[in-house]
Amino acid sequence: MRLFLPSAIFFFATQLLATASVAQSDRDTLFQVSTIDALLAGVYQPLATLDEVLTHGDFGLGTFAGLDGELILVAGDIYQAAADGTVRKMPGTAATPFISLTWFDADEQLQPPPGLDYAAFKTWLEAELPSPNLTYAVRVDGQFASIHYRSVPAQEPPYRPLKEVAKEQTYFKREKIAGTLIGFWCPSYVKGLNVPGFHLHFLSDDRASAGHLLDFSLTKGKVTLDPTTGWTLELPMDKAFLRANLGTDRAEALHAVEQGKP
Ligand SMILES: [Zn+2]
Repeated sequence: MRLFLPSAIFFFATQLLATASVAQSDRDTLFQVSTIDALLAGVYQPLATLDEVLTHGDFGLGTFAGLDGELILVAGDIYQAAADGTVRKMPGTAATPFISLTWFDADEQLQPPPGLDYAAFKTWLEAELPSPNLTYAVRVDGQFASIHYRSVPAQEPPYRPLKEVAKEQTYFKREKIAGTLIGFWCPSYVKGLNVPGFHLHFLSDDRASAGHLLDFSLTKGKVTLDPTTGWTLELPMDKAFLRANLGTDRAEALHAVEQGKP
């Protein structure tokens, strides 16, 4: 148990108090369409258009209708990392079955030690988080000695569970590449709604490489955190969502899918 408030916590506490106004609260809210367990169950239907969700943030991740690749939202631009390795900017008319996003404010910057792999990075950053009970938007701008990521192929109905589909995912590896990791760290209590711990997507600086992050070797980088103190969950009134079996524990399937080892 910590008896002293580290300066980071004090910084966050003062920031949170200072920003606890109505005007700011929307910026510090994570907006989400559907739930991670619905996605795991195979609810890949178009549940919202990007134009609809972009009124709630400029930074986030998710996927596209039909599970057509990985979605990366940065600075208000949406990119699709398709399973064939192509990356393209997507129009607001494209739709999503699952997305998490927020307005990204660079509230805290951290300098990771050089040479970390993803596992060591997670341990390091979790120790730096002011509290394990908040959600953080996480941005990492870095030079990577190597990076592994994946994407998933577009599906046709009837949709299979994500763990089945992920067996057909495409793996990618790049070396000596500069890029940004975009995503979130969520507390364990979001289980079923979102991904506990880290969930990050990669987008290279040249916008030619992107996908769901599996591992990396970080040469050097800068971590920016934005704690989100609110959460807005949009539950779709689509019959695929309404009929999905969301009563089962999908933690094991989530772990396999997130790690890229279905
Ligand atoms: Zn992902």
